[in-house]
Amino acid sequence: MLYTIVIAIIIFLYGIIIGSFLNVCIYRLPKKENIVTTRSHCMSCGYQLKWYDLIPLFSWLALRGRCRKCKAEISVQYPVVEALNGVLYLIVFLCCGVSIETLLYCLMASALLALSVIDFRTFEIPVGFNVFIAVLGLVRVLTDISNWSEYAIGFFVVSIPLYIIYFVTKGRGIGGGDIKLMAASGLLLGWKCNILAFLLGCILGSVIHILRMRLTKAEHVLAMGPYLSAGIYVCALWGTGLLDWYLSFYG
Ligand SMILES: [Zn+2]
Repeated sequence: MLYTIVIAIIIFLYGIIIGSFLNVCIYRLPKKENIVTTRSHCMSCGYQLKWYDLIPLFSWLALRGRCRKCKAEISVQYPVVEALNGVLYLIVFLCCGVSIETLLYCLMASALLALSVIDFRTFEIPVGFNVFIAVLGLVRVLTDISNWSEYAIGFFVVSIPLYIIYFVTKGRGIGGGDIKLMAASGLLLGWKCNILAFLLGCILGSVIHILRMRLTKAEHVLAMGPYLSAGIYVCALWGTGLLDWYLSFYG
C-alpha cells in the first residue's frame, strides 16, 4: 500500500514536469519556434526565467500568476496543463499499475493533451503528435504481437470512413488532423475500442459544442481534437470494460 502511494506520488510529479514541457510545445510549435534551444522568457517584458521560476505548478502559485519582474499576468493555462497532465498520469497508473500500458498511456495522454490545446487554439493538429501516437501504437503491437490484426484493423476502421467524408465534402466535413489522429489511436487501442473512442468523442463534441454555442455564442467552427482525445483516453483505460458490459446484455 505504502509502495503504491510512493509510486503514485512520483508518477504525479513526473506528470507535472512533463506538463510543463507540454506548455512549451503548446506555445512554440504553432509558431515554429525551437522547443529546446530558446530560453523560457516572459511574454511581456522578455525576462529570462530562472530555474526557480520554472518549477511546475509551484512557481506559478508562489508568484500568484504574475511575472517576477514586470508583474504581467501569466496565463492560467500553465498550471492547469501541468496539473491536468499529473492527474491524467495518476489515473492511468491507478488503472494499469506498474506495466507497459501505464508507460504507453501516459505518453499518449500527454500527446493528446498538447494536441487538444493546440487544436482548440489554432484549429490545427501538428502532425508530429499523430506520428508520436502511431509510434506508441507500433510499440503496443510489438508487445501484443499475437493480436496484431486487432491493431492493424484499428488503424483503418475509423480513418477510412472519415477519409471518404473528407474526400466527398472536400475537407469541410472533417479535418485531416482528426483522420490521422483516429488512425494513430486505432493502432494503439485496437479496432473495437477505437470505434467506441470515436463515438464517445462525437457525442461529447456535439453536446459540449451545442452548449458552448448557446451559452457563449461561440463561433461555429468546431475543433474536434479535444473531444476525440477525451474519447481516446477514456477508451484506452475503460473501453474494454465498457464493451464487455454492453455486450453482456446480448450474451
Ligand atoms: Zn515580465
